[in-house]
Amino acid sequence: MGSCSSTSSNFSIQQGSVKPFGSIHNQMKLNYVSEQEFPDLRKHNNHMAKILNASMYKRLRAKQTPSGFTLDDVIQTGVDNPGHPYIMTVGCVAGDEETYEVFKELLDPVIKVRHGGYKPKDKHQTDLNPSNLKGGDDLDPKYVLSSRIRTGRSIRGFCLPPHCSRAERRAVEKLSIEGLSSLSGDLKGKYFTLKGMTDAEQQQLIDDHFLFDKPVSPLLLASGMARDWPDARGIWHNDNKTFLVWVNEEDHLRVISMQDGGNMKEVFTRFCTGLTKIEALFKQRGHEFMWNEHLGYILTCPSNLGTGLRGGVHVKLPNLSKHTKFEVILTRLRLQKRGTGGVDTAAVGGVFDISNTDRLGFSEVELVQMVVDGVKLLVDMEKKLEKGKSIYSMIPAQK
Ligand code: ADP
Ligand code: MG
Repeated sequence: MGSCSSTSSNFSIQQGSVKPFGSIHNQMKLNYVSEQEFPDLRKHNNHMAKILNASMYKRLRAKQTPSGFTLDDVIQTGVDNPGHPYIMTVGCVAGDEETYEVFKELLDPVIKVRHGGYKPKDKHQTDLNPSNLKGGDDLDPKYVLSSRIRTGRSIRGFCLPPHCSRAERRAVEKLSIEGLSSLSGDLKGKYFTLKGMTDAEQQQLIDDHFLFDKPVSPLLLASGMARDWPDARGIWHNDNKTFLVWVNEEDHLRVISMQDGGNMKEVFTRFCTGLTKIEALFKQRGHEFMWNEHLGYILTCPSNLGTGLRGGVHVKLPNLSKHTKFEVILTRLRLQKRGTGGVDTAAVGGVFDISNTDRLGFSEVELVQMVVDGVKLLVDMEKKLEKGKSIYSMIPAQK
């Protein structure tokens, strides 16, 4: 496992359980008994809050990762955001690669409940071969307005966005610019820093669904990921904006393939090709992505471990979305819904962002297959309802 470059592990506090790491601030909290520090989570509805109890807090509160990330840092976003109006959040984040190991007593159960029963000894599979995807090139563009697949990647040796320093964040940006500048052909593109854009340019990219939102999400703010905004944040994209890389938002890198219409096969093919090239470019410069056999690709939010893949479409479902079984159907297809403006938005005019719920325990190909097959069925159901017919016989079994 890598350790963060901003590590403070060369000084240690000469006291029992916190050796060999040390942070004075966390040490000071130990002057109070655990019950005095324990957050009030009684009205919370996120996975962390349901799992963390007073005795677990007591066992973990003195621990730190090599870069000094503590239990309170892990849970702060879930303490400050009791629930979310549209999705069930995990309520915790990682500050470095080691967070998942040091705080596994809390994070293993979070991972288990968020990732369909995924267990501490389970192994994750990667499959980035687009020829293994069946179909996917023919989602009806009258309903499917656009298709998109994204993932995140973390660069080993740097702290993650909730915990990185300004210099580390800038180093991640510099490495990214250098690496991405050597992409060629269809993937040839340019990097645009947030600081170098006018407000109007930035807003246009957001409105066109290419760029991450401004740091308005309370989830992002409370986790510490928005510190120093907009320093060292930016977007790289190819000339026709079908392959994009976000730098230093929620993850070091977010890699996105997208285009109008319903050709998920094309989107996935570009996603796999681009991602494989990017991985090679970083390796050539001596930087691996954070990955292990159990957790797959390691990202800031435990909900994104494994593939980190969210493949989705913007799809018109004005009738189906009003049907009493809509939620049940989505759950059975292992799909989730969002508004088309991103995770914090509600759907407008019956158009939804429908994507895979899972990230871990299924390969990239399997997840995109679920989206392709599921969305096809949703569109068929929508067409049935348009004609005033029943969809009950089409309701799928639990996948
Ligand atoms: P994520 O963080 O998973 O990338 P968000 O929900 O935060 O996704 O959305 C980020 C941006 O991507 C938003 O502007 C959203 O509208 C856009 N987006 C997501 N899915 C699609 C899609 N299928 N087609 C077009 N834009 C999309
Ligand atoms: Mg997001």
